[in-house]
Amino acid sequence: MRKIKRIFVHCTASSQKMTVKGLLQEFKLKGWQHPGYHYVIAPDGTVTQLLSEEYVSNGVQGYNSTSINVAYIGGIDARGIPLDNRTDAQRIALVKLLRTLRRRYPHAHIMGHRDIWSVDDCTKWRKSCPCFNATREYENI
Ligand SMILES: [Zn+2]
Repeated sequence: MRKIKRIFVHCTASSQKMTVKGLLQEFKLKGWQHPGYHYVIAPDGTVTQLLSEEYVSNGVQGYNSTSINVAYIGGIDARGIPLDNRTDAQRIALVKLLRTLRRRYPHAHIMGHRDIWSVDDCTKWRKSCPCFNATREYENI
């Protein structure tokens, strides 16, 4: 079994209309053998598992072998500018999913993708993903 040190929260940095099928196609086009995330959450709160947790997904370069990656669909506005546009259903589903993962991996850190560079100092972020402070928001999960 893999040793899971981190649970990363992502946005797909796509339109909220992006489908799971469309996402999988994008990963294929990138030439990735495995998807970018283990779980993805649609605006209506539907959680889809893209990859078994035993396998390594392509979420955060350099950290994937010890990570679980989850994403909500969205994260940019109509002009492509980063935006936390999680729906209420996505917020609820994210908490539920993270609670389940927390039980499975009690010692893993739950954090946003960008928190790998800094939790608070936005000048250090190389990406805005997931466009909210996941470390703070989920610190009690
Ligand atoms: Zn990300």
